[in-house]
Amino acid sequence: MKPFPRRATPFLLLPLFLAACSSESDPTTGQTDNPAPAPVDTPAVETDGPISAAIRAAAETITGEAIRTVVAEIGSDAYEGRGPGSEGDVKARKYIAEGLEAMGYKPGAADGSWEQAFDLVGINADQPPTWSFSSGGEKLDLIQSTEFIVGSGVQSQQSIITESDLVFVGYGIQAPEYEWDDYKGQDLTGKTLVMLNNDPDWDDDLFAGNRRLYYGRWDYKYESAAKQGAAGAIIIHTDPSAGYPWQVVQTSWTGEQFELPAGDEPRIQAAAWLTSDAAEKLVRFGGQDLNQLIEAAKTREFEPVDLNLNTSITLNNEINRVQSANVLGLLPGSDPELADEVVVFTAHHDHLGIGLPNFAGDPEDRIYNGARDNASGTGMVMAIARAVAQSKPRRSVLMAFVGAEEQGLLGSKFLAREPTFHPGKIAANVNFDSGNIWGATRDITFIGKGKSSLDEVTAMVAEMEDRVVLGDQFPDKGFFYRSDQFSLAKIGVPALYLSGGTDFVGRPEGWGAQKMGQYTTRNYHQPSDELTADWNFEGMVNDARFGFYCGMIAANADEMQQWKPGDEFEAARKAALAEVASLAEGAGRP
Ligand SMILES: [Zn+2]
Repeated sequence: MKPFPRRATPFLLLPLFLAACSSESDPTTGQTDNPAPAPVDTPAVETDGPISAAIRAAAETITGEAIRTVVAEIGSDAYEGRGPGSEGDVKARKYIAEGLEAMGYKPGAADGSWEQAFDLVGINADQPPTWSFSSGGEKLDLIQSTEFIVGSGVQSQQSIITESDLVFVGYGIQAPEYEWDDYKGQDLTGKTLVMLNNDPDWDDDLFAGNRRLYYGRWDYKYESAAKQGAAGAIIIHTDPSAGYPWQVVQTSWTGEQFELPAGDEPRIQAAAWLTSDAAEKLVRFGGQDLNQLIEAAKTREFEPVDLNLNTSITLNNEINRVQSANVLGLLPGSDPELADEVVVFTAHHDHLGIGLPNFAGDPEDRIYNGARDNASGTGMVMAIARAVAQSKPRRSVLMAFVGAEEQGLLGSKFLAREPTFHPGKIAANVNFDSGNIWGATRDITFIGKGKSSLDEVTAMVAEMEDRVVLGDQFPDKGFFYRSDQFSLAKIGVPALYLSGGTDFVGRPEGWGAQKMGQYTTRNYHQPSDELTADWNFEGMVNDARFGFYCGMIAANADEMQQWKPGDEFEAARKAALAEVASLAEGAGRP
């Protein structure tokens, strides 16, 4: 595949190229029965560089007022925090679909509707007030909420662990590419695994140093334990290894948890967290030293350690089946050659619904408005949608407002499982999650920088916009794996997750990081994440325009975006492109 820079010239060659090819083709390659988006008209692509005057003019329609209107609407109490399957969720989806229809988009779901519905299973585990562990005939009880949080790993009325031995398994990672295996082939069937969070972060050549990989994510840990046939898994929480305080574990894992309906994948019975103090106390009760174990876990030679502890626990689960949906709006491409390929913009429309009040905040307020997370990103992508509708992109453009992101990227996982375009036909994904509410910045954060040809796309726009593109500024937090682009990246789609910068215009150094720190401590996943008078929309306007330009370049470039050689998602891309080629061959097309 040709690197991007050289492709910069193709824009100038476009008229020549377009004259050459005019065959009418059926775009979707058997991936879906969605009727091919008929090309609107012959491409009207200007030739003055990647971003034409018409596209610049369209970008002017992306305004603070446009974004604010959406945040004020779906971030209001009337939407009750847009919990999956709730009335607020249904209302928000309707509001978004009506907005897209008014802009001239077509329904983008396979059944010709605006909504790609997906089922969710809600599990509300009744956590016991205490959890007992025994060792040598003695018993130790840990306290719910202040020392442990536990949820069900199964979608059934009860989760049961009986007489299970605890085994410390270090990070619980199996990564052949790093010659790392924390399990060493030990039989851990029916055990309860005690695991460290994150992945090894002290050596740049090992697990990418302090950049958190998927191996360092809580969901990977529970999946990994299930693959070992374990009965349960306990992650030890520390602020640095989680990237957020214990309070987030308390609020995020209490109450109803949603999942996509279970397949035949292996599952643990119970998924738990312990505070580091509680873990230290528990390990000592079994006669071991946690700090020594943590040191031992930092080597490839590490072997699982029996903790001389045993436990049983039963959770009674309330199971609730609901439905939510991704809202999909499609703008057919203007170029017959490229209209069967698509650029996907994403933003999740859901948040946490109604839950526990924030003990440090207003004890009456139980609505998790999710104004920044992610009514702001929804507003930015709605504004981008309006600009795209005025820009006649060569490729089709899909606006995907995905649901149930807070429950584990479930809506985008479902979209990736049931894509409306073949993954090998998806040129790129541009994702927004939690806009910058504090003002204009000189820099912009590209989460995923260094992984694909989108590096060149963002560099081109940065030059044009006189901005600086920085990679993930908190690599230890693993943001690439914490938002919806990850679901599409897993099926091979090159992804651009644009997030606000930290170098604020007119502010002293460090001001930005301080503001973000305050937000994480006070408002992240709290009822207090609300639209307030001090919100400054300038940053979001600039970042949305930046994303719009990047999306338009990807929509008008001769070729689709690609991962860099050796990237963790390159293999999935190659497989998808090969499948498209063989499907085309099967249909006798070039
Ligand atoms: Zn979010």
